[in-house]
Amino acid sequence: MTARVLDGTKIRDQIFAELKDEVRLLTAAGVRPGLAAVLVGENPASQMYVKSKIAACEEIGLSSALLTPPATVGTLEMLAVVDDLNRDNNVDGILIQLPLPPQVDTKRILEAVDPAKDVDGFHPVNLGRLVSGRPGLVACTPAGCMEILRRNEIQIEGANAVVLGRSDIVGKPMALLLMHANATVTICHSKTRDLPDVVRRADIIVAAMGKAGFVQADWIKLSSASAAGSPATAGKPGATVIDVGTNRVTDPKEAERLFRNFPERLEKFRTKGSALVGDVHPDAINTAGALTPVPGGVGPMTITMLMSNTVKAARLRRASPKFSATQSTATAR
Ligand code: NAP
Repeated sequence: MTARVLDGTKIRDQIFAELKDEVRLLTAAGVRPGLAAVLVGENPASQMYVKSKIAACEEIGLSSALLTPPATVGTLEMLAVVDDLNRDNNVDGILIQLPLPPQVDTKRILEAVDPAKDVDGFHPVNLGRLVSGRPGLVACTPAGCMEILRRNEIQIEGANAVVLGRSDIVGKPMALLLMHANATVTICHSKTRDLPDVVRRADIIVAAMGKAGFVQADWIKLSSASAAGSPATAGKPGATVIDVGTNRVTDPKEAERLFRNFPERLEKFRTKGSALVGDVHPDAINTAGALTPVPGGVGPMTITMLMSNTVKAARLRRASPKFSATQSTATAR
């Protein structure tokens, strides 16, 4: 039996449709939500990310502005840019595209962003709100993972959830969100002992390590139909796998290891010379109960939640209470 595929692109389309309606209502009432992106220098990957974020703004009807300080910019000049955006009432969300050049104090810049406009959810005030379970702006990738779980009606309450990775932008906020949703959460990292055994106990696995195909298919709890049916697991589905990892594989030997059971993917790799792979081995499709594909799972959700956070920031900061009745499910959280 193969796993149910949790399609992030489909959920992105649903949320975009909800956000479009909400933006239309806000705009009709004189509040057009706006995102300002700050892109320093000419890093091609950063340019590509910012371009897709601005395209998403256009798609849902948000206004957007792009500021492009030169690669030689200093911390004080960047602080001045952020200060201007903090004061601009038409700007609801401020996005500082990372990485910043080495001469800029990144933490100081991120902490200078008004927490009410911190649509990346990186500000310590928003992290503190998340820790204490109070409403705030939540980091986009983990918020997107929660949307995938909820919109696919995956049972979170009471589940054993294992988060692989403890970064500030994915692992830690993910663990907090799952805990607030009443899962029992284990956080793993590079010093965790007996990782396969820890993963085997999980009903929900969130892999965010940056290691291609690291989590093996036989670490994943099988459904009771596939397992040699013990009464304790009878009727339970296999584990749900949320694969955050985004790894570009270029080594043919590694590609052979990953795609040994997927001749079409191997062929595509050979033609292209590279492939995008998650942190979970592709063979997990045969053991998990449900799983996000890479690409097409968590990836589309990060920009989606950035849009959702911008609309939410606009509503909280500028709109009157009458708008709260119109908010989308995504921005309501
Ligand atoms: P990161 O800051 O490099 O953190 C990686 C984490 O994985 C660390 O906590 C590390 O443990 C842990 N780890 C590394 N090797 C391990 C091992 N062998 N066993 C257990 N844990 C191990 O990475 P990140 O920024 O969180 O990103 C993680 C992955 O998600 C990357 O592939 C990234 O590209 C991807 N990502 C995707 C999206 C998206 O939109 N789809 C967004 C963000 C990130 P230590 O703390 O002990 O070092």
